[in-house]
Amino acid sequence: MPTETKTTCPYCGVGCGVIATVADDGAVSVKGDPDHPANFGRLCSKGSALAETIDLDGRLLYPEIAGQRTDWDTALDLVADRFSKTIAEHGPDSVAFYVSGQLLTEDYYVANKLMKGFIGSGNIDTNSRLCMSSSVAGHRRAFGADTVPGVYEDLELADLVILTGANLAWCHPVIYQRLAAAKAARPGMKIVVVDPRRTMTSDIADLHLAIRPDSDVALFMGLFAHLISAGAIDQNYVAQHTSGFSEAFATATMLSSNDILEQTGLPAMQLREFYRLFAATEKVVTCYSQGVNQSSSGTDKVNAIINCHLATGRIGRPGMGPFSLTGQPNAMGGREVGGLANMLAAHMAIENADDRGRVQRFWGSPTIASKPGLKAVDMFKAVADGGIKALWIMATNPVVSMPDADAVEAAIKSCPFVVVSDVLRDTDTTRHADVLLPSLGWGEKNGTVTNSERRISRQRAFLDFPGDARADWWQLTEVGRRMGFDGFGYASPADIFAEHAALSAFENNGSRDFDIGAYAGIDEEAYNLLSPFQWPAARVGTLISDSGKRFFADGRFYHPDGRGRFTAVEATICDRTNCEYRFTLNTGRIRDQWHTMTRTGKSARLSSHIAEPFAELHPRDAIEIGVGNATLVEIESPHGKAIVRALITERQARGSIFVPMHWNDQFAAKARIDAVVAPIVDPVSGQPALKNVAVAATPLAVASYGFAVSATRPEGLDACYWALAKAAGGWRLEIAVDQQVDDWSLWCRRTFAIPEEIEPLGYVDRQSGDVRLAFFECDRLLAALFIARQPVAVARNWAIAQLVASHDQPRKRFALVAGRPGADMADPGATVCSCLGVGVNQIIAAVRGGCHSVEAIGSQTKAGTNCGSCRAEIRGIIDGCLAAAAQ
Ligand code: SF4
Repeated sequence: MPTETKTTCPYCGVGCGVIATVADDGAVSVKGDPDHPANFGRLCSKGSALAETIDLDGRLLYPEIAGQRTDWDTALDLVADRFSKTIAEHGPDSVAFYVSGQLLTEDYYVANKLMKGFIGSGNIDTNSRLCMSSSVAGHRRAFGADTVPGVYEDLELADLVILTGANLAWCHPVIYQRLAAAKAARPGMKIVVVDPRRTMTSDIADLHLAIRPDSDVALFMGLFAHLISAGAIDQNYVAQHTSGFSEAFATATMLSSNDILEQTGLPAMQLREFYRLFAATEKVVTCYSQGVNQSSSGTDKVNAIINCHLATGRIGRPGMGPFSLTGQPNAMGGREVGGLANMLAAHMAIENADDRGRVQRFWGSPTIASKPGLKAVDMFKAVADGGIKALWIMATNPVVSMPDADAVEAAIKSCPFVVVSDVLRDTDTTRHADVLLPSLGWGEKNGTVTNSERRISRQRAFLDFPGDARADWWQLTEVGRRMGFDGFGYASPADIFAEHAALSAFENNGSRDFDIGAYAGIDEEAYNLLSPFQWPAARVGTLISDSGKRFFADGRFYHPDGRGRFTAVEATICDRTNCEYRFTLNTGRIRDQWHTMTRTGKSARLSSHIAEPFAELHPRDAIEIGVGNATLVEIESPHGKAIVRALITERQARGSIFVPMHWNDQFAAKARIDAVVAPIVDPVSGQPALKNVAVAATPLAVASYGFAVSATRPEGLDACYWALAKAAGGWRLEIAVDQQVDDWSLWCRRTFAIPEEIEPLGYVDRQSGDVRLAFFECDRLLAALFIARQPVAVARNWAIAQLVASHDQPRKRFALVAGRPGADMADPGATVCSCLGVGVNQIIAAVRGGCHSVEAIGSQTKAGTNCGSCRAEIRGIIDGCLAAAAQ
């Protein structure tokens, strides 16, 4: 009988419930959990493709020391021994853990306890530093605690939703779907998108404010001043529940209207309309994400937003409030256990001696970190400087994701002892490990995660442990014990969760926001049955307290005076007009990939949406620097270089370039864009400024461009540019070479491992530079290569389909070499709907046939009818076709 398991998606901070079904033959399928309150059955394209990413291909299955397989005892003894010796010789701050928002709360809890309570250092930081630490810092300044006051339902209840620095359509797709559905049901709801780029999310906006990069502080300072002049301040709320209004008022009014117009770059009419809307609308939610957080002024941006909500008393009530959306599945869980270097467990403060004493008493630990540890960027600098001599990296790939990534790689290489716990054998980071520890992946591990609305859900195992892989909490526990520490006697994640819940309630009595004391005594059975719940969930006597869904409804905050605090922020602006590095690089996510592609890169379906790294450029910038569409562009800063495909689009603002963060060295020759990013951080939160990087952009000199499909993974790629992606039936490959290749047939044989006896079909035209080569084994295509002096115009999806087509007739083989779809093999065009494999050409044909709504396109082509993540793109295609037809 097939078995069904309720679990949670491991990708973004929306935290969607998933039902995983294992069929009798072991095949796994997934669907959205209709009972989960985050998604009510919806999934986006990434969640829908989860079953395609859980194979064992590339998995790290056994512990390794210096690249050689070993057993757990040997590996764990070595880790414990090297950490203990390093600490004995150089002190506790000579070691560090770099962990991840991919860890489950139970893993995170043990890692934090081991480092802060037993080793006695604050040197545990997380890739969540890169994701939302500015929100944490802003919340703590305003609220006295890292509290997210709102819930997802608020977005549906609001009359005005402001999305600032948040491309929901691609980065939080199920929230986007909920919001789009709410607006469709209630068209009077207004949506304002604040983003320098016209993203897919902008397509449902009533107003798109294409502000200059990092001018959010000026925008919201101007709003604050406008609220005062418009008489929209809630004087009672401000007087009774807040402090610091006058100081914030004084700084906000220092900016003139002209300053704000100049700094934001917005037309006066748009600015007036935005301010009018906010002032006139009671139910306002302001959502913010990486565009706010990943900035050198990220914390000030957060506080500039919160100031406006405090000033109007629009916080803690249905349909209103500031709302930080987290990027990772368990960024919130990490915050709850103190996984950031400057936090203590259970939302307690490392700077507070009472909190330190309380945590130490609870843990019964020999010590407690007396000061904050090193935040991510400083941590890797300390590794480079030799201050950190033993480093344990868990569930993250900093060689791709950290700013100044090449320097981070060099630092890791130089570190005397590096442990990496991961699910994959070969990542850009694992290659530098002294010890590799095989971890459990999604479907194998067991624990909890917390989503952006403070909802704690179970991730449950439904697959056996592969090889010798073990849970991260188990690895940490074993190392802790071997280092001679008590306090790590956990038998299961339920034990850890029960302790975590008990700590949250320990000496709390309502003084701290994070309290899940109701689950302090949870046993194995109850843990296994645990339904998603939102914190706080305190135990009052024998009852679970019913404190409501939202914080601050009662006007009570967590500063010692119980008041919410305004923050006097200051706007800064950067001008790169006469700079050598005059472009502003903005890095971010695309719809169908996740982080460094170590999981989503396994799915051909997900890779079909966007198959190679790209740079979005404004057409006039492209002309100025001499970059043509689909040619290659070099993005360079003093820190590094990347080579990506040029995508020229009016969606991009002038002077800005968007490049996705995902590509690693396994999927592209030189596209780790974080190698280009300067290690500049927000001074309060330590979060890197990943969206405002000074870069230069120049065309790459190319002798020939190429596209290939192959049944096997290409190896030893000899090209100045390449980008590889999984495809149905094999692989797809984009290449460019900077010098003429004499023998492309030989190049193919080496790259695609074509046997000697197989002759190519095709031609080489030296004059035009065109090359077409295909290698068949009986009626099966092994590989095909298309080369031209210009970007190759072969229909990609059609060519990929040839990998699984039969080439039993010469006509079909010649059509492939010609690079032209026959009448019986129409080209669907670039994939738009990855769930159902619908291409742009099919959608355009449907529009021309009279389908002028997303629903009509869905009925005709099925596009957008599964997860719905592509609906914004479909709407854009319809609008584009209709606009073109009207001209
Ligand atoms: Fe997963 Fe998509 Fe839901 Fe995010 S929105 S949790 S990626 S299914």
